[in-house]
Amino acid sequence: MADLVPRTYRLFLKPGRDRSVTFRHPWLFSGAIASVEALEGAEPGDLGEIWSSDGKYMAVATVNPESQIIGRILRWTEGEIDDRWVRRGLESAYRYRREILNKDVQAYRWIHGEGDRFPGLIVDQYHDFIVVQPLSLLWYRILDQLAERLLDISGARGVLLRTENAVRDSQIPGETRTVAGEDPPDRLEIREGPARLLVDLKGGQKTGLYLDQRLNRISIGRLAAGRNVLVPFAYTGGFGLHAALCGARRVTLVDSSGPALELARENWAINGIKNTGLDIVKADAWDYLRGVKSPYGLIILDPPSLAKAARHVDKASRGYKDINMQAMKLLDRGGWLATFSCSQHITTDLFQKIVFGASRDAGVPMQWVERLGAGPDHPVSLDHPQGEYLKGMLLRGMDLGETPGEVDSTS
Ligand code: SAH
Repeated sequence: MADLVPRTYRLFLKPGRDRSVTFRHPWLFSGAIASVEALEGAEPGDLGEIWSSDGKYMAVATVNPESQIIGRILRWTEGEIDDRWVRRGLESAYRYRREILNKDVQAYRWIHGEGDRFPGLIVDQYHDFIVVQPLSLLWYRILDQLAERLLDISGARGVLLRTENAVRDSQIPGETRTVAGEDPPDRLEIREGPARLLVDLKGGQKTGLYLDQRLNRISIGRLAAGRNVLVPFAYTGGFGLHAALCGARRVTLVDSSGPALELARENWAINGIKNTGLDIVKADAWDYLRGVKSPYGLIILDPPSLAKAARHVDKASRGYKDINMQAMKLLDRGGWLATFSCSQHITTDLFQKIVFGASRDAGVPMQWVERLGAGPDHPVSLDHPQGEYLKGMLLRGMDLGETPGEVDSTS
């Protein structure tokens, strides 16, 4: 067997910069590199060997001299990046999903980039179809082999490529096309616990669904019985649908995306929901939250990433705090708030501080009930803590005065 792409680079680390490689962090920043040797004809995405400053072989990486992350490490031992290596990695990640996911889970993440030792690769399975999102050039270059292996292992019917809506290496064009097998339908129906969800694999956000929230949609829905539910970043209505299936009184879905809300309406219809009222509002969620008055018994805040880079953290923090304050003020006594941040740059610690600050400034004391995050099909490598991007808190508005004998200190 031979490497799937030519091995044309040698990267020499600066003295004292080999720690992160020794600690198995998969990223190599250009600042850590003393010199790059390239054979004639070397292309971005080719393989390269990483050498320490004192001449020790350390790892093999995919190299992209035009990216700030110049190398993404594939293995720390000598050996080839061949078809067998790819197949074993895909099979191992697949077996892990089979082991931890209930048999009835139809849509889940199969390859979670660095967390599965495939740096810069996303593979999501939706029932009989697979969506591949290569963010790093190597995967784009070996797409055909990858797709074939994905079909062999899973028995799926087709593999779709989606790159246009993702942060990716600059040489990867924005595309949506079928790369192997059949073309997926425009609307694919999948089951998620008790709900039926229509997914637009070709045009939807991400690869079609926010799969990281699958378990949260199911579990938070169960808090909704008899309550008015507000979902300001509703996408195709998943959280609201689970709430309705668990007996919510009324569900209000707000989103700025027309196509997402259209699908939310179709989702509502195919689930045959009769006893829950539905409002669908196309609006900016910040504006909407500022203007709305009625109290809610459950609010789910799952905004898009507000800090796409470290320099956006301050502004993003204010954005998160603002919506959390508004939401807390809208809660019924004893109402629930599930609040999330999916920004890699907002740490768990910082998010907690933002939410505490919101509660204090809103004058709404809250109980922190549970920490929330992505499901187990989104594993994070301990060597790559940046992989933990989704943070959430389940909070409950304190029902002051509910406890017998409690004294209200303001009276
Ligand atoms: N919780 C959803 C996913 C939410 S993703 C689920 O489980 O499916 C974030 C959503 O926010 C997207 O649907 C996006 O269209 C929407 N969005 C982005 N900016 C917005 C804004 N300013 N106001 C309202 N919605 C917005």
